[in-house]
This record gives sequence, C-alpha cells and structure tokens, in this order.
Amino acid sequence: MTLPRLRVLSLGGTITMTRGNGSGITPKLGAEELAASVPGLADVAQIVASSPFRVASPSLSIADLVEIARVIRAGMAEGFAGTVVIQGTDTIEESAFLLDLLVGADHPVVVTGAMRGADAPGADGPANLLAAALTAVAPGARGQGTLAVLNDQVHAARWVQKGHTALPSAFVSPLAGPVGLVAEGRARFFATLPPTPVLPVPDGEMPPVALLRWAMGESGRLLAALPGLGYAGAVIEGMGAGHVPAEAAPLLGELAARMPVVLASRCQTGPVFTHTYGYPGAEIDLIGRGLLPGGTLSGLKARLLLTLCLRAGMDTAAIASAFAAYR
Ligand code: ASP
Repeated sequence: MTLPRLRVLSLGGTITMTRGNGSGITPKLGAEELAASVPGLADVAQIVASSPFRVASPSLSIADLVEIARVIRAGMAEGFAGTVVIQGTDTIEESAFLLDLLVGADHPVVVTGAMRGADAPGADGPANLLAAALTAVAPGARGQGTLAVLNDQVHAARWVQKGHTALPSAFVSPLAGPVGLVAEGRARFFATLPPTPVLPVPDGEMPPVALLRWAMGESGRLLAALPGLGYAGAVIEGMGAGHVPAEAAPLLGELAARMPVVLASRCQTGPVFTHTYGYPGAEIDLIGRGLLPGGTLSGLKARLLLTLCLRAGMDTAAIASAFAAYR
C-alpha cells in the first residue's frame, strides 16, 4: 500500500526545545529530527519535513503565518495529502485560525505542539506529533478546515483556546467541545464543521488591529489615541455579552466612525449578543453606534479576521458579512 505524502512544517516551540548551556530551554530541534524520533510515524505517511522557523511562538507574526499558508497551498498543488504544522503552544489558537482562514477546508491542516520540552520526563511532543499525523491523513479530516491536535483531542481552529499555562491537557474548545479524538491509532470525528469563507493569501504589510479588553471603571480615554498610533481597526472585548460602561459608548461610536471596530466578549466563550440589552453601553447601543458584532469568535481570533479583511480591502458591509459566518 502506498502511504499518503504528508508535509510537516516546524516553526519551533517547546516541542523543539532542549536545555543548552544558557538558562532555560530554547528551540533547537528541526522537523526532520522530531519526525525521526516518533515511533510509528513512518507507518502513517511518507513524511516530507522542513523547518521554516525555529522560534518560540510569541515571536511568530501574522506575516509569518501568511507565508506558511502560502507554502501549504503550494503543497496542495504538489500532491500532499495534508500538512502538519508544529509550533509553540502559546499562539496555536491564533496560528490555527489564520491557517483556517487562508487555506480552506479541502486540504487537511493540523497544528500541534507540546507543553513539555523534548528532553523532559513524559515529553508530550512525540505523542502529539503522531496524533496530528493520524488526524491529517484521516478521511474525516477533509472538509473540517484547520484543526489543532494535542493530548489526543481534535479541536476546530475556530474554537480552540489555550486554557492552562502548564498541563498537557491545556487545550480546550469551551464553546462546543473537541470535534474528535485519536485513540487506538485512529482519528475519529464526532462533529462536522460548517464551512466558513476562505480569504485570499495577502501580500505586503498587515494592517495593525488593536485588541482591547474592557475592565470595570475603564472610561475609554485611550480609544482616541488609536488612529494616531497607526491602528487601522480595533477589536473590543466587552463585558459579558458585549457591554461597556455607559460613558464609554460615545467614545466607541467616535472610534467606529474612523475605523472598523468589532465587538467581542471578555468571557471565556459564547456569542456576542445583538438584540437583547437596551441600556447605554450594551450591545444594541454599541451596534447602533457602528460596532460590528464578532459572533462567537474570541477577541484574539476576531482580531485576525479583521486584519485579513482590512488587508483584502473589504468595506464595512463585507467585513460584517465575514463575521456573520461565525454567529
Ligand atoms: N513558550 C512556548 C512557545 O509557545 C510554549 C510552548 O511551546 O508550549 O513557543
């Protein structure tokens, strides 16, 4: 039987980190070494491994992930059955969503990493890499968009979040749960994800989008500074279902007159409301002042979607309909 060809791209992260002469662990291993260290991986697929980056994931940029999306799309034309992206766990919830937006659901993309370094007792990297590869070649992965696989759980890119700083079970999908599970050498899927629009892979610089989390008593005086700081858009993580103090509402309206402003929630998960609360600063007031409801997307993910929409030159109506896909 001919095994499927699977591209493995390593960007770095704890899964690649070992202790050197300095203090603490740092990225050292490449994709080939990682792949070679996983028992049974060569029985799953023909692995073609490369390491475009060797960094800790807080140093990855949106432009870096756009470049990875370009490589993955080229790989589709080269006949790869799927792609596994290895990277640091700190930003998996953002990278996976960017790839989901830019690659499309026809080509399985699975992002993985590790919570424990490569030479730590009980290192979770090898098991996560094997589970990611099993998921990427599974027939059920096609059409699901980008997935994140860690701790044998399969998460949708649109929902996954890093929910813990330390545990191998750090990854959660609080909105709807994991969509699948890897067990006995097989990825099983328990949900079929509705397709979401794919955006063009952009060239050039990404427009800066601010992400602001609202806190008790915050007046919003910093909003007026955003245009002068070069921001082209903003995402507001409001309280609860999308609320701010009454005094902040006019300031948000003024900002929305100058740039697209998306309303998300500072809650762990759940949709931003659109037509329930009628007090000043609540969602009906803010939407009336021009804010765009962010649906079920977290603030982090809403910021990425708004960045790509702005880069694609979309007007307010097109941006609103891009977010409507996530209601
Ligand atoms: N700080 C690391 C990173 O994101 C954490 C990890 O990989 O788990 O690169």
